[in-house]
Amino acid sequence: MAFEALTQKLEAVFKKLRGKGKLTEADVKQAMREVKLALLEADVNYKVVKDFIQRVTERAVGQEVMESLTPAQQVIKIVNDELTRLMGSKESRLNFSPSKVTVIMMVGLQGSGKTTTAGKLGLYLSKKGRRPLLVAADIYRPAAIKQLQVVGEKIGLPVFTMGEQNPVNISRAALEYASRHNNDVVIIDTAGRLHIDDELMQELINIKDAVNPDEILLVVDSMTGQDAVNVAEAFHNKLQLTGLILTKLDGDTRGGAALSIKAVTGCPIKFVGMGEKLTDLEPFYPERMASRILG
Ligand code: GDP
Repeated sequence: MAFEALTQKLEAVFKKLRGKGKLTEADVKQAMREVKLALLEADVNYKVVKDFIQRVTERAVGQEVMESLTPAQQVIKIVNDELTRLMGSKESRLNFSPSKVTVIMMVGLQGSGKTTTAGKLGLYLSKKGRRPLLVAADIYRPAAIKQLQVVGEKIGLPVFTMGEQNPVNISRAALEYASRHNNDVVIIDTAGRLHIDDELMQELINIKDAVNPDEILLVVDSMTGQDAVNVAEAFHNKLQLTGLILTKLDGDTRGGAALSIKAVTGCPIKFVGMGEKLTDLEPFYPERMASRILG
C-alpha cells in the first residue's frame, strides 16, 4: 500500500511527542528532524522537504501551540495541513467544454500506464453520464491500437482507429466522428516512448495545435519516484499540461512522487491509479491523502 513506510515512521515520531505532555521548542525541532528524514527516505524532493519543514516548524513553535492543552495534537494537525497544501489543497477537477466535444489528450512515457488509464478514465466518465470515444493515436506500437480496442470492448466504449496514419489526422478525424456520433468527450491515447525525445514532443505539440484540448493529462508511474517528477517537469515545459495522473500508487510504498510533483511542477494531480483493473481510478483528494499518510 502507498506510503506504508512513511506512515510508520511518522507514527513513531508523533507517539514520542504525545508521550511528552508539554512541549519545548527543542522537542518540536527534534521531531521535525525526524520528520525530515522520513520524508527524504520516502524519496520526496529535497527542496520540497526543506520548505515543508520550515513552514511546519515556524507554525509549531508558535505560542498558541506550545501553550495549548494538547500541543502534540496541534503539531500533528499542522503537519496534516501542510501535507494537504503540498499536494494541492483542494480536489482539482477536469475541465469540460461547455459547447463542443471535450478533448482530453493523454500523454506519457511507455509503460507508465497511459493506455490502461485512457480506458479507466473513459469508464469513469461514462459512469458519470458522459459518452466518451477512445482514440488510438499511438501508431508506432501496433500492439497499442489493439490494446486500446481490447480495453474499449471490456468497458463497452467505442474506439476510433485509422491504422497507422499521421496521429494529427487521426485526432482531427476522431473529433469529427465524435460530433457525428453524439460522443461528448474524446480521449486521445497518444504515442509513448521509453525516453523523452524531441520527435515525440513535436508530435504531441502538433496534435495539441490541431485539436486544442480542454485537458492535457500526463500519465506518470509513481513508483519511479523523482524520475516521475523530472518527466512531469519536461512534459509541462513543452506542453503546458492541465493535470497529472499518478499510476501504480497501489504499489508505491514510498510516495515521493505524490508528495513532490505538485510542488515542483505547479501542475495538479487530478487522478490516481490504484490497481490494474479498469475500475481502479480515483479522483485525487489532497486532504484524504494526507490523512491516509498520517494513518
Ligand atoms: P502504456 O505503455 O503507458 O500505455 O502502459 P499500459 O497501459 O500498457 O500499462 C503498463 C502496465 O502497467 C500494465 O501492466 C498495466 O496493467 C499496469 N498499470 C497501469 N496502471 C496501473 C495501476 O494504477 N496500478 C498497477 N498496479 N498497475 C497499473
